[in-house]
Amino acid sequence: MLDPLATLPEFINLAIVGAGPHALTLVTHLLQKKKSMRGRFRVFDPSGTWMNRWHHQFAAFEIPHLRSPAVHQPDPDPHALRTFAESRPHDLFAPYDLPGTQLFRDFCQETIRRWQLEDCVYPAQVVRVEPIIVGVASPAENRGRSRFCLHLSNGQTIIARRVVIANGGAVPNLPDWVGQIPTNYPQDRLLHSHQVDLRGLHLQGERVLIVGGGLTSGHLALGAVERGAQVLLMSRRNVYDKLFDADPGWIGPKYLKGFWAEPDLHTRWQMIQQARNGGSMTPMVLSQLRRLERDSQIEFYEQCGVSQVKWNDDGWQVHCDNSAVHECIHHQSIDRIWVATGSQLDARNHPLLHDVLAAHPIEVVNGLPVIDEHLRWQGCELFRAC
Ligand SMILES: Cc1cc2nc3c(=O)[nH]c(=O)nc-3n(C[C@H](O)[C@H](O)[C@H](O)COP(=O)(O)OP(=O)(O)OC[C@H]3O[C@@H](n4cnc5c(N)ncnc54)[C@H](O)[C@@H]3O)c2cc1C
Repeated sequence: MLDPLATLPEFINLAIVGAGPHALTLVTHLLQKKKSMRGRFRVFDPSGTWMNRWHHQFAAFEIPHLRSPAVHQPDPDPHALRTFAESRPHDLFAPYDLPGTQLFRDFCQETIRRWQLEDCVYPAQVVRVEPIIVGVASPAENRGRSRFCLHLSNGQTIIARRVVIANGGAVPNLPDWVGQIPTNYPQDRLLHSHQVDLRGLHLQGERVLIVGGGLTSGHLALGAVERGAQVLLMSRRNVYDKLFDADPGWIGPKYLKGFWAEPDLHTRWQMIQQARNGGSMTPMVLSQLRRLERDSQIEFYEQCGVSQVKWNDDGWQVHCDNSAVHECIHHQSIDRIWVATGSQLDARNHPLLHDVLAAHPIEVVNGLPVIDEHLRWQGCELFRAC
């Protein structure tokens, strides 16, 4: 980790905001293509380390292996993870040899070591990205002269020629009813999934309502039952299983050809929604949950949402909106609610894009900025890594 007191250069060629898997992948590919970039970029992350959020979320949910197969990894060699795993085949899980969590962690560490990236991450949050124009230029020349002043959480600033935003970026998506609850409840009794850390939780005899039908709900439900809780799993749709988040055809021309050929951006947005088709669980996690349902440790409330929630001294009283299908749960006292309803990206509400949007306004379609085929913002050298 870099020393936070180490002075930063006044100027760098490339600033990367965030040190997650996208940033790591970008840096290894960049160095492979252009060795001279070494020393000409800095990565900023409050943790001062690579992959901190990723490792935290896998540990906090006790996820045994990835959902994505071994080709999805940060090294430019697509076989690098498979080669690394040759001596530990038991760390690849069926079907399709999904990398185990520890294997993936060790592999990323080895990638960081091999590409000599240990000292690239500067421990600070970027709090503002301010576009500046160096010298007087015509609009046509502006892109070449555009620079960014990055303001850091420790008060320092640095000028960068190019910026890549790789900070995950999305904000937790909370259903409307959450905002309507009076705040007189113990704050740890209602959490968004990204705040839940299963490690160290004792849930013996507790009743936990988990809202959402995706894989995160599945992991949390398994973890809660493991700790002795009774789980109610509520989902707007029927919970369904799917091996991957999106069909692998989206990685190549099979579906992407049609996507790029579609001129209407709103239709493209619809195509993204259809490809994702909401949250889904892996077949293995869903079959584990159904087994626990048979053992009466989990109750499914499908095609069902929360209509009203109230904290009553020692527990939640929850009314659901489809008592035609289920007996409403309002008579059960619920100890905790975990909301696993994902996150959403909206460029107009993204704190780091505020000044960029003002200086270089671009079209935003349902929250997504319309960037070019290099994932570059129109009119300046700002990129989005994802
Ligand atoms: C439970 C769960 C399981 C998942 N399983 C898989 C899987 O099996 N396979 C897969 O491919 N994906 C999986 N994902 C998705 C995966 O975690 C994300 O797609 C991936 O982490 C996104 O990478 P990223 O680099 O864009 O962002 P992140 O991993 O979110 O990293 C962003 C980094 O930016 C930092 N940051 C944020 N704001 C700032 C700022 N202002 N200044 C500086 N730094 C900042 C953060 O501290 C963080 O370290 C899973 C996600 C979850 C929640």
